[in-house]
Amino acid sequence: MTDVDVVIVGAGCAGLAAAKRLRAAGRTFRVVEAMGRIGGRAWTTTDDFGIPFDMGCAWLHAADRNPFFPEAQAAGWTMQHHDMGLDHLWFGKRKATPAEMEAERRAEAELAACIERHKGASDRLSTLVEACHGLRVSATFAGPMDFGADDDEISVTDYRAAADLDPNYFTKEGYGALIHAWGAEVPVTLNCTVRRIRWDGPGVEVETAQGTIRAKAVIVTVSTGVLAFEDIAFTPDLPEGHREAIFDLPMGLLTKVPVQIEGTRLGLQPFDDLLIERHARHDLYFLAFPFDTDLMVGFVGGDFAWEMEAAGRAAAVDFVTDRLVDCFGSEVRKAVRHGTMTNWGGERHIRGGYAAARPGKAHARAMLAEPVAERIWFAGEALAGSLKQTAAGARLSGEAVAGKVALELARG
Ligand SMILES: Cc1cc2nc3c(=O)[nH]c(=O)nc-3n(C[C@H](O)[C@H](O)[C@H](O)COP(=O)(O)OP(=O)(O)OC[C@H]3O[C@@H](n4cnc5c(N)ncnc54)[C@H](O)[C@@H]3O)c2cc1C
Repeated sequence: MTDVDVVIVGAGCAGLAAAKRLRAAGRTFRVVEAMGRIGGRAWTTTDDFGIPFDMGCAWLHAADRNPFFPEAQAAGWTMQHHDMGLDHLWFGKRKATPAEMEAERRAEAELAACIERHKGASDRLSTLVEACHGLRVSATFAGPMDFGADDDEISVTDYRAAADLDPNYFTKEGYGALIHAWGAEVPVTLNCTVRRIRWDGPGVEVETAQGTIRAKAVIVTVSTGVLAFEDIAFTPDLPEGHREAIFDLPMGLLTKVPVQIEGTRLGLQPFDDLLIERHARHDLYFLAFPFDTDLMVGFVGGDFAWEMEAAGRAAAVDFVTDRLVDCFGSEVRKAVRHGTMTNWGGERHIRGGYAAARPGKAHARAMLAEPVAERIWFAGEALAGSLKQTAAGARLSGEAVAGKVALELARG
């Protein structure tokens, strides 16, 4: 392996963007990726249903600031505007009344206002949520379905610092496919897991499954879940502040359970939002029949998502089917053809959905973003400012960090 200016660890949105930025700055680099494909958490596959399905990111959030959006439009991808609303709400097997729907909409606005003005001693989102159904529904959207964590594990400060992600678009061909097309021209060494980063001499030595690469700097874009599991060793250890920051940014989880339903649309319109609110936080959200395909895409988040992935695909598909039967009758069971479940928690090179700061630990993001000895730089969705947790944010983070590295190298 040859020596380069910069090694980039990971070929997701952040790593690919960093590579493009370094190339524009005239720097040599090598991108090493543990998996056999690029994209990381951006991954569209046709394997399950014969049509594109996004296992990871699907919403092009913040389209007015998301560089993928104008690129997709210019390239003629099929786009659909859709901001999440509450079209259908069920409390277990009971459909919410119009008055309850209205109460929920009010509660959502109340919770948002509460979050905005919160100055209390506790930084836990759950302290703002009362145990009434209406508010719980908004907490479901604010917590597990959005941050991938339950509200008692979410920092209000961290939550408040996230941008409003409207307007949102979907693309029929798949967000993962879009990101793959954008990144495909970047040279990447696949199946090349980084095991150790040495920074005890000048520059860095990056030990991989395919040999050691020497470089002046390294940009690490792996998830905080991968970092916390110490899949990559650092010699010497990272400074204490960085190690703490990694543990203060645990991975939340969002799990998709899409089921293919033939011959009925259950009285729903394509892209309708349906929430089934249940006890013990086993809430289930559906995106109905996107692009008029036969897919009801179920989502669970937070602790329940970890439970679901542990129980496995068959149990997940049964659970989702049973809940649809509860709401729409036993005919649904006969109409379900096939289902699957994403398993990002079990993917060892990702280990979750995206990072959510622990209560009281929102500052961990800024800490981890500090370069170590001007040689080790972190980038990715966890460090994407107000677009944290998003694919566009990961891309912008990779670009920004690579820009800083290029500047640092130019200074000599
Ligand atoms: C279920 C789900 C739904 C989502 N929905 C949306 C959405 O609708 N819209 C949106 O904008 N975002 C969404 N996201 C988030 C979005 O997908 C991520 O924020 C973004 O893709 C992260 O990009 P990244 O480059 O930071 O990290 P990653 O994509 O994780 O890239 C890091 C790369 O590092 C590699 N790697 C790990 N360990 C090593 C190692 N030791 N050596 C070498 N390589 C290694 C990994 O394999 C991976 O490819 C979703 C995520 C999930 C999981």
